[in-house]
This record gives sequence, structure tokens and C-alpha cells, in this order.
Amino acid sequence: MSYDKATEERLSELVSSFICHASGHLPDDVRKRLSEMAEIENEGFAPEIYNVMKKNMEMADKLGRPSCQDTGIPQFFARVGTKFPYLDEIEPALIDAVKKATVKAPLRHNAVEVFDEFNTGNNIGHKVPWIDWELVQGSDQLELYFYMAGGGCSLPGMAKVLMPLEGYDGIAKAVFDQMSTYGVNACPPCLVGIGIAGSAEVAAKLSKKALLRPVGSHNENPKAAQMEKDFEEGLNSIGMGPGGFGGKLSVMGVNIEQAARHPATLAMGLSTACWAHRRAGIRIGPDFTYDFFTHKGVTL
Ligand code: SF4
Repeated sequence: MSYDKATEERLSELVSSFICHASGHLPDDVRKRLSEMAEIENEGFAPEIYNVMKKNMEMADKLGRPSCQDTGIPQFFARVGTKFPYLDEIEPALIDAVKKATVKAPLRHNAVEVFDEFNTGNNIGHKVPWIDWELVQGSDQLELYFYMAGGGCSLPGMAKVLMPLEGYDGIAKAVFDQMSTYGVNACPPCLVGIGIAGSAEVAAKLSKKALLRPVGSHNENPKAAQMEKDFEEGLNSIGMGPGGFGGKLSVMGVNIEQAARHPATLAMGLSTACWAHRRAGIRIGPDFTYDFFTHKGVTL
């Protein structure tokens, strides 16, 4: 089937509503985890921080505004079925959806062109929105994740290639050094994404994809799942607490994703999401029916 403007428009309308809702409403798993953490934090300044977060979420919903002033760089992670009928329309629809949502949500203007150093004023720029593509063999669905990569929550991000003899202890050292130095910039409690692979760019990308996984989910590999638990426990013992004001818990969780590595390299990547972890996922069918699976029960 060839490109069709009306189909692009229909898809862009749906995706712009999806972005607008995501900008003002945290996903179900994050809301649940934050309320569990609020129950545990009963000392010092921490309960007040959780009260402020709760009030913030209520006001964002009531006023129809974004949950945070920093609505981030828009990023899409598209898992496209090879039988999805509107392949030609996806990319222009996603770009147009960001333009529309920038006005409707509204989203802060965050796309600054590198080298030319000017803000484009509509969140569209060179390779922005960032779109990551994956093909799903035989499917006729488009599974789309949207993530708002805020400045503070992107700051602790890093990737490096370790000598293999540094081993998994080397990964732990890199994660704890980075989180204890820069983690506070990411408005904790954070969700920590870690990628492990053979080269820096694969590890970095996997660390961001790890943030798309639900809070509380675990890696299918039992050893990786154990590392997630160990890192979560360790990071929760550094005392950073909500907002960095001290507390019992500093992270919502740790999600690890891996790819097979080269025998001579052990690369690791780290991405962080803040308490206002605005990631949203939707599955769209060929007839435009959808399942907004990160925000159950929401009609767009
Ligand atoms: S880290 Fe998150 S909550 Fe903090 S300012 Fe950035 S987007 Fe907002």
C-alpha cells in the first residue's frame, strides 16, 4: 500500500492524544510503586516529598497539565509488525504528533540544534523526535513506546567499555560511582536502567530500553534478576531518598537488559528515569483500535 495523507493524519491525531495524556499522567506501575514507597518513608523530610509528588499528580490531572515543567526530548521506541499496513505513514505521523502535542499538552520547547545552537521552538529537530525501530515478524500491530527524556533524568546517563577482567564488579563500581555522584540530578526515586553488551552503543541503547520495562519486572535470566535485586538493595542503602533529601529508598527499581558480548570486552550503559517517569506504551491495530497498556482504562 502506498503513502496516504489521511491515514497519516489519523495516526498522528491518535499519537498526539497519547503523548498529551502521557505528559500529565504517570504510568500505572510507577504510580503504584510511588505509593508503596510513600508508605515506607515515614521519617524526616521524605514523607513531605511524597506528599508533594501526590499533590503534583492530582493537580496535573485536574488542570490537564504536564506532570513536570521539563517535558523532555521526545523519544519513540517503535516495534513495528511486518504486516502493519501503514509503514509509510508512521514516521511522518510521529513527527506531526509531537508538533501537535507541543501546542496541545503543552510541551516545553526542548530541541536545541547542535552546532547551530538554537531552539527550534516545536520539539522537532535533527533526528528529534528520536525514533528507534524494531521489526516484529508476522505481526500486524504497531507497538509504540513514548518516553520524555528530561534533562535531569538524562544527566546520570553513561556508557563505557570495561576490560573483561574488571568483571561484574566493574559494572557495579561504575553504576554506584555514577548514581552516588549524579543520581540526585535525576529527581529520585529513580528507575535505573542498565545495559550490558560488547560495545558502548549497544549497552547504552539497552540501558534506555530497560527503562521501558515495568517497575517491579525482572530479567528472565536468574543471574541478571539477582543482579537487579542486589543493585536495587545497594542503591537503596546510599540514603539519597526522595528528591535527594535523604530517606530509606533512592530507587524504584533496577532493570537490566543484555546482549551477548565480545570475549575481550564488557560494555555497560546506564540510563536513569526520575520519579516522574513519563513512559507510555500503546498497541495500535490495522483498524486503529488500540490498547493503551501502560495506562489501563484510558480512552484517548
Ligand atoms: S528529573 Fe524528572 S521530575 Fe526532575 S525536573 Fe527532570 S523531568 Fe522533571
